[in-house]
Amino acid sequence: MPDTAFPLTRVTTVASLQSAVAGFREDGARIAFVPTMGALHEGHLALVRHAKTRADKVVVSIFVNPLQFAPTEDLDRYPRNEAGDIALLQSVGCDLVYLPTVDVLYPQGFVSRIEMKGPALGLETDFRPQFFSGVATVVMKLFNQVRPDLAVFGEKDFQQLAVVRAMVRDFDLGIDIVGYPTMREADGLALSSRNAYLSPEQRAAAPKLHAALEAIRSVVLAGGDAEVAIATAKADLTAAGFGQIDYIALRDAETLGEVRAGKPRRLLAALWLGKTRLIDNIAV
Ligand code: AMP
Repeated sequence: MPDTAFPLTRVTTVASLQSAVAGFREDGARIAFVPTMGALHEGHLALVRHAKTRADKVVVSIFVNPLQFAPTEDLDRYPRNEAGDIALLQSVGCDLVYLPTVDVLYPQGFVSRIEMKGPALGLETDFRPQFFSGVATVVMKLFNQVRPDLAVFGEKDFQQLAVVRAMVRDFDLGIDIVGYPTMREADGLALSSRNAYLSPEQRAAAPKLHAALEAIRSVVLAGGDAEVAIATAKADLTAAGFGQIDYIALRDAETLGEVRAGKPRRLLAALWLGKTRLIDNIAV
């Protein structure tokens, strides 16, 4: 049960974060970490609830990471709701929330970047070239500051999950990376902080993305041609009012490269609806 009797501890500096985590460690606690960019919704809360089942203490960070936004992207208008987020985190029994400023994570003179290949190549990177460098760099920083036993990430950002797993393996970080299934609205739309940007008409059209992925999966599982099914889905989505389709691609679920016979596959998509970019993915 969420322990709402105790106020959620809120820290903003590395020193206060580390002293709170050290307090947990003194009590022998196993520590889970859930990094977020805030504007929390049920998807984030599901990660926190799951983290609670896997650890004694759960640390959540809220940080809108400028390194992962291109200059043309929505850094300035990214939704922020600190008071609401803290109330939600308290309601699900989060133990510590870390709210660093940009200066705390990237003080003057910060010059390092994590650069990755493998699962970071293609898909998102074809459209957001600096994205995974920004993600990996901030996740490495946060991991080193929090030093958790495990960290929970959503499958909603499937390529990101693969990138984080590869980074943890390559740099021997010794953190257990736990993937959690995508939480959806009843109509299939994946929960996302960016859904708040959608107009009522766009919101009504948005679930067609998930439906299109399901339709492609059905064709593929019935032995049909994936590329033909993807082309049909793209035409349907365009007819339904979607804008540019960055990609819809069937990939190997582990490497995110070409599919391999007998290995799990993942169908991943990113596309635009008005000025909002939606991403989604499903297992095939
Ligand atoms: P964000 O705040 O968008 O950076 O997301 C923080 C974490 O929440 C990431 O691990 C995301 O994959 C995860 N997440 C976002 N949306 C969902 C969702 N609909 N279901 C499950 N996890 C999600």
